[in-house]
Amino acid sequence: MRSTMPDHPLTITSIMRHGTGLFADREVVTYTGDGYRRMSYGELAREAARLAGALRALGVDGDQRVATFGWNSAEHLTAYLAVPSMGAVLHTLNIRLFPEQIAYIAGHAEDDVVIVDASLVPLLAPILPEMKTVRHVIVIGAADTAPLASAGKQVHDYRTLLDQAPDAFDWPDLDERAAAAMCYTSGTTGNPKGVAYSHRSAYLHSMSVCTANAMGLSSRDRVLPIVPMFHANAWGLPYAALMAGASLVMPDRFLQAEHLARIIAEERPTVSGAVPTIWGDLLRHARRHGADLSSLRLVPCGGSAVPESLMRALSDEFGVQVVQAWGMTETSPLATVAHGDSWELRATQGRLLAGVEARIVGAGDVVLASDGVAVGELEVRGPWVTASYHLEEDPSRFHDGWLRTGDVGRLDARGYVTLTDRAKDVIKSGGEWISSVELENALMGHPAVVEAAVIGVPDERWGERPLACVVLDGTTGVAELREFLSGKVARWQVPERWAFIDAVPKTSVGKFAKRSLREMHARGELT
Ligand code: ADP
Repeated sequence: MRSTMPDHPLTITSIMRHGTGLFADREVVTYTGDGYRRMSYGELAREAARLAGALRALGVDGDQRVATFGWNSAEHLTAYLAVPSMGAVLHTLNIRLFPEQIAYIAGHAEDDVVIVDASLVPLLAPILPEMKTVRHVIVIGAADTAPLASAGKQVHDYRTLLDQAPDAFDWPDLDERAAAAMCYTSGTTGNPKGVAYSHRSAYLHSMSVCTANAMGLSSRDRVLPIVPMFHANAWGLPYAALMAGASLVMPDRFLQAEHLARIIAEERPTVSGAVPTIWGDLLRHARRHGADLSSLRLVPCGGSAVPESLMRALSDEFGVQVVQAWGMTETSPLATVAHGDSWELRATQGRLLAGVEARIVGAGDVVLASDGVAVGELEVRGPWVTASYHLEEDPSRFHDGWLRTGDVGRLDARGYVTLTDRAKDVIKSGGEWISSVELENALMGHPAVVEAAVIGVPDERWGERPLACVVLDGTTGVAELREFLSGKVARWQVPERWAFIDAVPKTSVGKFAKRSLREMHARGELT
């Protein structure tokens, strides 16, 4: 029997219409370092129409890629709405990648236009000559644009362009399966790979983010996405906020703890997402200087394993509920969220959201039991999990329609995922596996340890042994840390190699850059 329901397209245009129409009085607030700029969602709708009109005037009339090179701001949000809704494809460039990678990505995506924040013009200018497909650069705010023009591109001022455009736009009917936005993985191995989200996947992902098993967003929320809008679409928070009618607070480029503490105290967000390092910084800042974090009802945290000690400290000392989540650029990104009554559950990577399926696969591609015991590579699939990469065959990452995540762990019958490591970071010692993440989490529970990253280093007898690279704030020593660990992990896993360093190098999205640590070790710098 055929259903009586239509294939009504699920589009970002409809998220935009709903959010800015019914919730026209909600606002997007952008922090300026010493104050705030405010824009109502009603005005945001007009700004999106003007931006779409301006881009149309520059010749964007199809599925051209319109790239952004910017921080989290009202203007970036405007592009998030205008570009997909006009039928073009939003490409959020990761400003923290190496210049060669940015140029490669822009070329691979065939970016036509780049919208750049004034503060990032000096970063973009030297790369621009290598961005061969780019015709137009639109600069938000006042900047010296001479270096951009000398790259042979047409340079425009954002405000001037938008002021010349009408404040209504004839939004086209779109195919929900068409690409709406794209992100590249940060490419820790090989060239970055492009993931193209559809209108449909973005819509379904946003609905999922709004469910109570995820973030439970509603029109009573104010959402502070600290996670950059160029990192997996700020975890889907902007679109989900529009769908829920929640206001957005944008930190722009001010990601240091003192600024974030101020924004939270003054703008009183209820939900805020960021990687663990940001919350670790904020916790230390709050301990030293005090902070009013009382407005936060939920803090989704992920991108790398969230130490239980960090979650407990924020909860016990500041009443902030950190909820761990797991996902990837390839999964839009939200796939699991760790709600639960016990710390045992909350310390997992989380429970599968409706729509996302997972399985654990062992040696020889054999599917293992979801019994919470069997350990293997996590594979996932679902309506917002990519099934390929943009213009790239990479069969090694896909397996019978499932995405191989490169993450190793267990899955239980209730759908809770527990990751022990990334496949490439697992330490193989004498035929047994040591989880670098478990050691790191245990170490970061020591009061004098600010950060700890553990890598496998060659060992004559065991093949590999863990090297603990530790950043201290206080006094302790190897003997005490070994003793501290021995109650928490198996004795044979306790590292005998230690390096005390000033800071753990980070990747472009704020994760421990273990490859850099391995290179430092190879150069004899970690002793
Ligand atoms: P990249 O793959 O370039 O680092 P992503 O942000 O897409 O960029 O990273 C996804 C990866 O981040 C996952 O495959 C996983 O290894 C890691 N990750 C994300 N969330 C968590 C988490 N809660 N716990 C452990 N690892 C996580």
